[in-house]
Amino acid sequence: QARKRFGQNFLHDPGVIEHIIRAIHPKPDDAIVEIGPGLGALTEEILAVNPKLQVVELDRDLIPILRTKFFNYPEFRLHQADALKFDFSQLTDGKPLRIIGNLPYNISTPLIFHLLSQAGVVQDMHFMLQKEVVQRMAAVSGDNNYGRLGIMTQYFCKVQPLFEVGPDAFRPSPKVDSAIVRLVPYTELPHPAKDLGTLQAVVRTAFNARRKTLRKALGGLVTVEQLQALGINDGLRPENLSLADYVSIADFLVGEKGIDGSGGDSND
Ligand code: SAM
Repeated sequence: QARKRFGQNFLHDPGVIEHIIRAIHPKPDDAIVEIGPGLGALTEEILAVNPKLQVVELDRDLIPILRTKFFNYPEFRLHQADALKFDFSQLTDGKPLRIIGNLPYNISTPLIFHLLSQAGVVQDMHFMLQKEVVQRMAAVSGDNNYGRLGIMTQYFCKVQPLFEVGPDAFRPSPKVDSAIVRLVPYTELPHPAKDLGTLQAVVRTAFNARRKTLRKALGGLVTVEQLQALGINDGLRPENLSLADYVSIADFLVGEKGIDGSGGDSND
């Protein structure tokens, strides 16, 4: 019996499962971590190639089922835990992680933000998500679904939407269309911010007023003159700015506040 509160929709279409596995392309020596294995539809295929697979599953009732099903894989490791709070760096064993999962859609956005914060230990990630969430991740400035999720995902990762999956591939069928996305964290960030927290605050503030002009949306943080000095037209809307623009606003604010990483108070 699938549990709604855990966002359980189990994959059962062998063609779709095979397509996903081909996209992930697991290799025997990869350090692979699956989030939310459920009844093990993807788990089974990955284990056949990579018997050291580790999984993080919240639903304690699924743990004995998975243990029984995969008893002949002694190196298979199950972590009964909440992926939202999980420290993935403890699983690396010196190797960057390949994270995969048909994610619970009810927590997908906070889970993606949590995983982005650990991108430093990740080689790549393949997720099944609600189609609209994949579109938001891949959106560029000017798109109407461009916003905080896309900007912060693209800050850390190259985003590649791969293919769509219809509701019939799952039991029970979700009410939405799904899609597979590949995220590859950059080894060198294309637009590094001086202070990540400031960048996040600027992006959040801007998109809290996504229909207003920048002059209004960011009025509490920067003046019109300051925006213009950065080469940014204050009459634009938050959706018109690129990641590089947001980084330049955030870096300007860090300079203003004198947050330069040297620490300590000035004695002026
Ligand atoms: N991977 C399986 C499949 O494709 O058939 C199941 C996918 S189902 C959409 C999501 C899975 O994530 C369920 O097994 C659910 O119990 C698990 N889950 C839900 N919330 C979780 C959390 N916070 N941390 C870890 N796993 C979670």
